[in-house]
Amino acid sequence: MADISAPKGVRDILPDESWKWAYIFRVVQETALNFGYSEVHLPLFEHTELFARGIGDATDVVEKEMYTFLDKGDRSITLRPEATASMVRSYLEHGMGTLPQPVKLWCAGPMFRYERPQKGRYRQFWQVDFESLGSANPLVDVEIIALSVEIFRRLGLHQLEVVLNSVGCPVCRPGYRERLHRFFESRLDDLCDTCKGRLDRNPLRILDCKREGCKAVTEGAPAIYECLCDDCRDHFDAVKKGLHRLAIPYRLDNRLVRGLDYYTKTAYEVLSGSLGAQNAVCGGGRYDNLAEAIGGPHVPGVGFAAGVDRILMVMEQEGCSFGAEPSLDAYGVALDAGSRESVSDLVDHLRRNGVAADMDYGNRSMKTQLKAASQRRARYACIIGEGERQKGTVSVKDLATGEQREILSEDVVAAVRPRPSGDE
Ligand SMILES: [Zn+2]
Ligand SMILES: [Zn+2]
Repeated sequence: MADISAPKGVRDILPDESWKWAYIFRVVQETALNFGYSEVHLPLFEHTELFARGIGDATDVVEKEMYTFLDKGDRSITLRPEATASMVRSYLEHGMGTLPQPVKLWCAGPMFRYERPQKGRYRQFWQVDFESLGSANPLVDVEIIALSVEIFRRLGLHQLEVVLNSVGCPVCRPGYRERLHRFFESRLDDLCDTCKGRLDRNPLRILDCKREGCKAVTEGAPAIYECLCDDCRDHFDAVKKGLHRLAIPYRLDNRLVRGLDYYTKTAYEVLSGSLGAQNAVCGGGRYDNLAEAIGGPHVPGVGFAAGVDRILMVMEQEGCSFGAEPSLDAYGVALDAGSRESVSDLVDHLRRNGVAADMDYGNRSMKTQLKAASQRRARYACIIGEGERQKGTVSVKDLATGEQREILSEDVVAAVRPRPSGDE
């Protein structure tokens, strides 16, 4: 038989799970509206150059993980590995710099990275991505952090913790880089091969390494705080003060550097649950040099991205609610072949009146049809046989109580219509 399985690292999101996704997106959308963010839909692929410039040639993402190909016009195209570069490209392309600043946008959709698949990590994965473009004000950093925390709070995640750092700017980072370089140079033998390669290119990324040996070395590494320039220090202080005012708890961690080169000043992650570091549900920060890196004018920005697969996994671990699972209000049951068209008409009438209804399309026994109604979690079975047809009635059976009554066809909508919640 031909191979009919999906490629490695991608998966189908099936009905038993997709309703939970819909719930997450509903919460994200409502929270975005509350915070004044507008949704945009961006293309899934861009010119490869956008990511090479906007993420940095020397990052793992650009070097190893991008899905890049030539299209039929010989253009180098890449499936987006993240959304920030596209968001900034869109802002620049559509002249949003003339709008009141900051321009606050969000999007949701699949991203693509050629990574080793593992639990909760896929080669096509979904993110929600929020970006606030055009303001260097630290209050905007506070807003973006508050927004991410509020989304997770509404989703029911608990013990939320913000981990905060500053990664400096082009003025002060070189000095810090040099100090780090000196520090790691003398401990080179204890670092992994990847980190040895990072020493000259980007020693900050050694702080990010997850290997135990490297983590032990970085314990004693110099912190960036002593190296921040006045501008970065003031900004950092204002962000901390802002979080304090909004009663958002945070912890400083000078090893939080993020993998991408365009970050400046604020870098943060939100962790959830008692497992702490195991459960980072989002990461973000400020990227004041991204717009210039991709060929535009100076546009400061700050944002975050959160993986939906990861959020779902953490919500399930923590037993969060996803709201009510979708179900049918009514399921049409025909007692004989001659009643099937009447059932079809009834189901159509119910649907047009806002009732979630379905029916059986095979010539199956009443018992089998009732079983199907239960499997579909229908609240009522609407049964029609020859007797009902002659009288213009429908037998409505409550599938929870087993109680059955015969009512006039025109009263069925009222009998099975879902009641608004709280109106029992
Ligand atoms: Zn600085
Ligand atoms: Zn390492």
